Amino acid sequence: MAEQKTEDFRVILVGGGPVALTAAHALSKAGIDYVILERRDQLDVDSGASVAVWPHNVRLLDQLGMLDEADRTYMPVLYKRNLRRDGSMISKSNMFEAMQINHGHPWMCFHRAKLMNMLTNNLPDPSKVLLNKEVVSIETTSTGVTVSCADKSTYTASMVIGADGVRSTVRRMMNEEASKQPDEPFVSTYKGLYGYSTKSPELDAATCYETHSGRMTIQLIVAEQQQHFLVYERLEKPTADRGPRFSDEDKDALAAKYADVKFPGREPGQWVTFADVWANRQWSMLSNIEEGVVKQWHQGRCVLVGDAAHKMTPNTGFGMNSGLQGVAHLVNRLHSLLQTNPNPDGAALTKVFTEYQAALIKNSKTTVDMAGLYTRLVAWDNPVWKFLDQYFLPYVNGDVTSLNMLMSPIVQKGVPLDFLQENAYKTGKYSYHTGQATIKVA
Ligand SMILES: Cc1cc2nc3c(=O)[nH]c(=O)nc-3n(C[C@H](O)[C@H](O)[C@H](O)COP(=O)(O)OP(=O)(O)OC[C@H]3O[C@@H](n4cnc5c(N)ncnc54)[C@H](O)[C@@H]3O)c2cc1C
Repeated sequence: MAEQKTEDFRVILVGGGPVALTAAHALSKAGIDYVILERRDQLDVDSGASVAVWPHNVRLLDQLGMLDEADRTYMPVLYKRNLRRDGSMISKSNMFEAMQINHGHPWMCFHRAKLMNMLTNNLPDPSKVLLNKEVVSIETTSTGVTVSCADKSTYTASMVIGADGVRSTVRRMMNEEASKQPDEPFVSTYKGLYGYSTKSPELDAATCYETHSGRMTIQLIVAEQQQHFLVYERLEKPTADRGPRFSDEDKDALAAKYADVKFPGREPGQWVTFADVWANRQWSMLSNIEEGVVKQWHQGRCVLVGDAAHKMTPNTGFGMNSGLQGVAHLVNRLHSLLQTNPNPDGAALTKVFTEYQAALIKNSKTTVDMAGLYTRLVAWDNPVWKFLDQYFLPYVNGDVTSLNMLMSPIVQKGVPLDFLQENAYKTGKYSYHTGQATIKVA
């Protein structure tokens, strides 16, 4: 293969999820050419549960020119009510409002389809998103990579970013290239039934109702038009298997088990049950929920971001956010490298990938553990947590205290893209370790 010229440096992004799309925006702003290969015939632009962007990543939306649209699109969530299965109140808080007080930007909870639409529609060159491209193999040479798809098409580039989710093909290829045992640390202890329904008029908007109970939890995030539900149920035993492809009958059966779960309406004595929520559903999905952090995030000219590298339970809403931070760390380093070395060899890329992994892996583990702990606490995994959750945490304003002590420190570590201006920089009670981004003059 001929030596590549500066302007030939190109990235293949495998996967078209929210992390890959954000990477596409960041690469584009960094002046780095890319193409997205997505195996499905469309992006998730008309389905999906809720997905929240934490304030440190709202900073990225600002830098990538999508803050105004995000402001118009997200579903405000301010309050939280912790309930027992019979609807009785354990405690309530303004945890989500406190995120904005702590960090300046709000906690932006989106219908996933709307976030995906925003990310897709704002791409400067939509022709760079190629659908029906299932990546099946990657060949690495001394000067680049050749990626092959199931339809026999091939693409060449300088490097690959594997943003292809928890069952990552890029990760499998990396392990094969390194002749390593599969680096597949993922274990599912819970399964999740999630989706959305029309809003129950009896419930308050901008509120997350959270049912705490033995072996199960429900989060019901109520917005003006829709409500998004996540039912977590502990599996009989943890499994490293992907789990079955659940049918509609499986979903109905799980929903029926929790049909009696009650959410208090606005008027005294008024109740909405999970049966009501389920009856009005517009979209749903049931799957096992994997947890784990991959040991090695790069090999040769391939590097992983997002769920391909780390996967957690969704309770704390940090999964995609961790991936977005991965994008910022990786693209900052690639941009910086290409300023001084427009045609980096494999060793230069490995250095960047190593630094990227080193900057993030500890935080990723903390985030996965924290999400896992919260999942188990509210599902009363043992009698101590059942007691603490009902009788101790309410007295110390557990929601806001855990936000301040555990989650805000993660947000504070968030980095912006260091080669772009941050126009709407905001900070709150807690400052960011890396403050407002200003364009560096070369
Ligand atoms: C119910 C629920 C609620 C959640 N809420 C939040 C939240 O509030 N905040 C938060 O931060 N996170 C949340 N998460 C987690 C979040 O959804 C994930 O972390 C996020 O989707 C990961 O994005 P990704 O782009 O890395 O991977 P994915 O979204 O999994 O996308 C991977 C893409 O790669 C494609 N792909 C796979 N293999 C190949 C291949 N061989 N070739 C080409 N393409 C391929 C797939 O089709 C897919 O489009 C939630 C998750 C769930 C289930």
